[in-house]
Amino acid sequence: MGQGEFSLIERFLSHFPRAKVQVGPGDDCAVLAPGKGAQCVTIDALVEDVHFTRAHFTPEDIGHKALAVNLSDLAAMGARPRWFLCALALPRELPRRALLGLARGMSALAEEHGIALVGGNFTSARELSITITAAGELRTSPITRSGGRPGDVLYVSGTLGEARLGLLHLQEGRRRSSAILRQKRPRPRVALGLLAARFASAGLDISDGLAQDLGHLCRASGTGAELGLSLLPLSPAVRAALGPQGALAGGEDYELLLAIPPSRTSAFERACGRAGERVTRIGQLTGGPPGLIRELGGRSLRLPAGFDHFRNGRTD
Ligand SMILES: [Mg+2]
Repeated sequence: MGQGEFSLIERFLSHFPRAKVQVGPGDDCAVLAPGKGAQCVTIDALVEDVHFTRAHFTPEDIGHKALAVNLSDLAAMGARPRWFLCALALPRELPRRALLGLARGMSALAEEHGIALVGGNFTSARELSITITAAGELRTSPITRSGGRPGDVLYVSGTLGEARLGLLHLQEGRRRSSAILRQKRPRPRVALGLLAARFASAGLDISDGLAQDLGHLCRASGTGAELGLSLLPLSPAVRAALGPQGALAGGEDYELLLAIPPSRTSAFERACGRAGERVTRIGQLTGGPPGLIRELGGRSLRLPAGFDHFRNGRTD
């Protein structure tokens, strides 16, 4: 970015507390706390006109969401968020107050989850994009996609389809709805991920829609699955506007999909109840052909394709 880069970086950094690491932002690398592993590392980018538009999202929304999608990946592994790096590509005409709004949205979520900004990069670009690398610590074995076994019970957190409905509301020109809030400000299920790590055989976060993401889990685990469409947790608004089939394709929910061995389901449900985490039993893994998803009772499920962002499809 050249001239003015340093003061801009300093102003951006002033939104974040000093990270408790050996070397934080400002050097060529961050040096993380020795002896503590950042075993779990993820990266995700949020790109203007693909994942958001500046007409619909405030800078605070964009900052929140850029970090939230990474926290959701850490949550899906059962990791405790620790550190993140942030690369910003900024259009020249982007007002400074927008950059600082972005920092505010991001730092508020970072504080909530105790994750420290330890470095990053600024560059100029035609479109605004934010790429974040986040690292977390594991205290148990990670929750992977591949550990599921036939008979494991499938649970999802929260409700499904809300973010997709929010996107439709925005495209219809609506400014405010609870679904729009879910689209702009997803809540990563970090606490549930930490809890679930004690119980789950497999899991992932739902970024591409339940149908696609369950397919990923099944193929990695070498299982099929049975799903109860009538069991899916849907808000009345999603039930009316999308129905269960539409909710299956609903991307960007950032809820967790978890497989729990049958001997552990009661303890898991009790632990969720105590922690105030809403989870719903939606089906089970089967020995069926890997990746094949049937409706409970046997009918093969007509699986919807993934969802569209504002312009491009998402492939990750
Ligand atoms: Mg993920």
